[in-house]
Amino acid sequence: MELEPIIGLEIHIQLKTKSKMFCSCSNMGNGDAPNTLICPVCLGHPGTLPVLNSGALKLGLKMALALSCQISDTSKFDRKNYFYPDLPKGYQISQYDKPIAERGEFEIKIPAIKGQVRPEAKIRITRTHLEEDAAKLLHDPEKKYSLVDYNRAGAPLLEIVTEPDFKTPLEAKIFLQELRLLARHLEISDANMEKGQLRCDANISMREFKKNRKSGFDFSDTSAKIEVKNMNSFKSVEKALEYEIKRQSKLWKEKKPPQIPATYGWNDEKGITELQRTKEQSPDYRYFPEPDIPPLDLRELKQEMKNILPELPQEKRKRFIDQYGFNAGDAVIISADKNLANYTEQIVSELKSWLKNLPEIESSEEEIWQNNKKKLAKLISGWLINRYAKLLEEKNITAEESKITPENFAELLTLLYQNKINSNTGQKILEQMFDTGIDPSHAIEEQGLEQVSDENQIEKIIDKVIEKNPKQAEEYRGGKEPVIKYLIGMAMKESKGKANPQIVEKIIKEKLK
Ligand code: ZN
Ligand code: MN
Repeated sequence: MELEPIIGLEIHIQLKTKSKMFCSCSNMGNGDAPNTLICPVCLGHPGTLPVLNSGALKLGLKMALALSCQISDTSKFDRKNYFYPDLPKGYQISQYDKPIAERGEFEIKIPAIKGQVRPEAKIRITRTHLEEDAAKLLHDPEKKYSLVDYNRAGAPLLEIVTEPDFKTPLEAKIFLQELRLLARHLEISDANMEKGQLRCDANISMREFKKNRKSGFDFSDTSAKIEVKNMNSFKSVEKALEYEIKRQSKLWKEKKPPQIPATYGWNDEKGITELQRTKEQSPDYRYFPEPDIPPLDLRELKQEMKNILPELPQEKRKRFIDQYGFNAGDAVIISADKNLANYTEQIVSELKSWLKNLPEIESSEEEIWQNNKKKLAKLISGWLINRYAKLLEEKNITAEESKITPENFAELLTLLYQNKINSNTGQKILEQMFDTGIDPSHAIEEQGLEQVSDENQIEKIIDKVIEKNPKQAEEYRGGKEPVIKYLIGMAMKESKGKANPQIVEKIIKEKLK
């Protein structure tokens, strides 16, 4: 019997607001001493009143819109009751039956690699809601005691629940990575999994694979839902799900598929999931409306947030491919970094006007661009991703902080495009521009680096090279073609790297025919 997994995710994103969800305590804590970012409200002292942080609401709505969710006209908060030392009030303020948004959809692309079953997938979003975080428990390694740090208690969280639409662990991992990209682009969270700013629980069950299942959502023959927790990296989400597929498949083969829903914890060190509790022991949360926070009318705010929603990275990626001619891999890299993406767009627009002003070209900006799109895109991405981004990384700064203006960068690319300089010289100039902000023509002048394309001048150089290397010249004449590389190298050396290598090659070939 062939089996297929059914996977759904539940994600918590810590929102990047100045203050906590319902009080004015700082939410920007970073290594602060335990229990210093607290007040009577987030500690749940009797008589205190929570006040909703409108900033958190806005960030939550932004993400919900980016996930194409339906924003609710009205929404409210509820108390989710349970007792645990990390919960100072004895309940969590969350949202039960009226979340801020429901029924979204997000498309992911899946690489064509072994084990993957489709090139793309639409993941439906069940709901997104706001809630507060709990405190952090620190357990003594010898298990003699536990300590509580309430700094995190009351921090704003956005919970995102998906439908069970993932067919492979990799799909789940890709979705999470796309979600992180969205969160960073929208500036709602740094969404760092290792830091707990993005947390994910997964639900996974198995059913028999049938080719013509009437509806994809027929779960009548599906085994019980297993929830997996404690995964704190993208890799561990993928590994935990892969492990569960193996574990559950084995149970199916033994004719005893899981029948009782249960929660398992991922043990990263051992690489296994461990039973935490079965659903029979799961608490009844006795939800009821939070009496201290009035219900929300979101109609106006929804429109407001729609108006300021920026272009999403996924849309940007597509546009970089369609409009600018970047290949898919380059488009992913450039659009993943907002600064680099903006910088690239400015360079493209500057480059267009540089090209238009070249004396030898007499067509409109758009014509030049369209006719040479692929070549120009390759040139831009090559210099941006392989060379410039490397410099940024070395100096640990962003594109916006760098001294190279888009105009100067475009000029450098124009010089390369025209073969006025070769790539060795280009690299030297790029580094000088990076360090000092100088424009390329001045850098070339200062260092006398302009590429020599003058055929008479190059011919003289080549005559010299042939004279000095008669053996190699003879070999090439005799049909040993690879020797030309050596001769070109000699000519480049003779010209101190300034000769145009294409012309050098052409002339050597002519001379040694
Ligand atoms: Zn507080
Ligand atoms: Mn939650």
